[in-house]
Amino acid sequence: MTIADCLFCRIVAGEIPATVVAETERTLAFRDIAPKAPTHVLVIPKEHYADVASLATADPGLAGEVLGTVADVATAEGVVGEGFRVIFNTGASVGQTVFHAHAHVLGGVDMDGDLT
Ligand code: 5GP
Repeated sequence: MTIADCLFCRIVAGEIPATVVAETERTLAFRDIAPKAPTHVLVIPKEHYADVASLATADPGLAGEVLGTVADVATAEGVVGEGFRVIFNTGASVGQTVFHAHAHVLGGVDMDGDLT
């Protein structure tokens, strides 16, 4: 897959619409198209990395910026006090379907011990 074919690169480029909730120079946060919780936001680096491991290896500072945007989104969504979950699916075998690194920020519902 070339970067031109990457769904999230196309969202960054404005070629595919998304409901953006936060943006920094190097990160973007937008609502998941199929939300699994009242708050379900995806936070991505604008630059293409296939997954969080590739991102953290190549540019740990940018990985930190992604986490900073995760925190900003959680605050803006009002889920910090009640708790929220951050998931980076990494690999098809654990359910990664879009191979551009992204954090799922999930909250607003009791998730107990569920893994997803
Ligand atoms: P993954 O399964 O790779 O961890 O997560 C990919 C996520 O991207 C899924 O939760 C899916 O609903 C979401 N998604 C897929 N296509 C689109 C899209 O076109 N727009 C948005 N906003 N989310 C998408």
